[in-house]
Amino acid sequence: AFLDRIDELNPTLNAFLHVDREGALAAARAIDERIAAGEQMGPLAGVPIGVKDNFCTVDMPTTCGSRMLEGWVPPYDSTVVRRLREAGLVIVGKTNMDEFAMGSSTETSAFGPSRNPWDTDRIPGGSGGGSSAAVAAHLVPLALGSDTGGSIRQPAAVTGTVGIKPTYGGVSRYGVVAMASSLDQPGPCARTVTDAALLHEVIAGHDDMDATSLDLDHSGLVDAAATDDLTGLRVGIVDEFRGEGYDEGVMARFDEAVRRLEALGAEVVTISCPAFTYALPAYYLIQPAELSSNLARFDGMRYGLRAGDDGTRSAEEVMSLSREAGFGKEAKRRIIIGTYALSAGYADQYYGQAQKVRTLIIEDFRAAFERCDVLVSPTTPTTAFRIGERVADPMAMYMADLCTIPSNLAGNASASFPIGLSDDGLPVGLQVIAPTMEDTRLYRVGGALE
Ligand code: GLN
Repeated sequence: AFLDRIDELNPTLNAFLHVDREGALAAARAIDERIAAGEQMGPLAGVPIGVKDNFCTVDMPTTCGSRMLEGWVPPYDSTVVRRLREAGLVIVGKTNMDEFAMGSSTETSAFGPSRNPWDTDRIPGGSGGGSSAAVAAHLVPLALGSDTGGSIRQPAAVTGTVGIKPTYGGVSRYGVVAMASSLDQPGPCARTVTDAALLHEVIAGHDDMDATSLDLDHSGLVDAAATDDLTGLRVGIVDEFRGEGYDEGVMARFDEAVRRLEALGAEVVTISCPAFTYALPAYYLIQPAELSSNLARFDGMRYGLRAGDDGTRSAEEVMSLSREAGFGKEAKRRIIIGTYALSAGYADQYYGQAQKVRTLIIEDFRAAFERCDVLVSPTTPTTAFRIGERVADPMAMYMADLCTIPSNLAGNASASFPIGLSDDGLPVGLQVIAPTMEDTRLYRVGGALE
């Protein structure tokens, strides 16, 4: 049924870049046989899932939304994908994304934008807009995302779905094509809080193949999602994330959600996190710096696109032509910014300063979590914008991640939950932020609100 729905709607939504109909049916049949043979399988056995196209999959291409990797089939599965297969989930295909996960709309994908099922003239968020569109349109009940600056939460907010960015290190990055390694974190996309928790429990856990992997107990997430009482929970409203630039309809739903939290027993306070004001500029130095280094491997020599190799050119010329042909405009912009920010003579002024701001943001979180158990804000200042509206203005595009970025810089757990529709009829998300390693708190709040 899901495959038929993909056939029907994907030509409009462009949520999937690759669908493996035969592979999915074969995987589903194999699981049916194991269950028929009496094997006890987990709760997600047989459930279809879409996988963002930056997770390595041995049996499907992994393009990262880039011409650079068009048609490339990895020689191994990412740890998360391996865990999905072991738990019996059925991978139906790979979902569209901004090129190498840079963007907030999927418009930087080399394979065209995905569309928001609520209004197909609008963006489904980014970079994981293929996953959010697929889940919102019921093409699959679950999907995988990766969140470097908001790419799970912002797409969830603008499509009325649930998106979780686990604590950095909670879910293995092994085999997820690196964008900005100190910020990247894989996580679940789902339609309900319990579905997200079920998937989170499957993909989380320590992995020897990821040097930054944490050994955490993730067994309480599904139980936490069943909560409907928030008595004693201290909720802090981030004072910096309101005011100018925030849609009235977004703020109206946000204020209502806060009142519902109070009605469920939570104590609400307002908390100032002054360094959050500098999170966006700090991110747009640190992220391009790490990205420029990570994307250096796409040189046309080892794998991926090779251009201009006609036997007359030097290796340097072929590298240069391959990168010219393979990368889109945003990738090039960030490679240049990142290389500049790291260059001798400028590294202290730019990269070094940004790292200091990062420390101040961590300090703000530490102080805030002495006074409250979770922080809340709107996930995004506005609802889904129109396709094309922000492509010519990178700063306007970057503003979509204003509220989500601090959690990536600090590494703590953060989520977006749907809290109704704005005056324009489009979904609004509530961002909930918990301290590092306290991911259960996200599910407790999300579950109580649902
Ligand atoms: N939109 C942000 C960026 O362009 C976040 C991307 C992400 O989380 N992958 O960098």
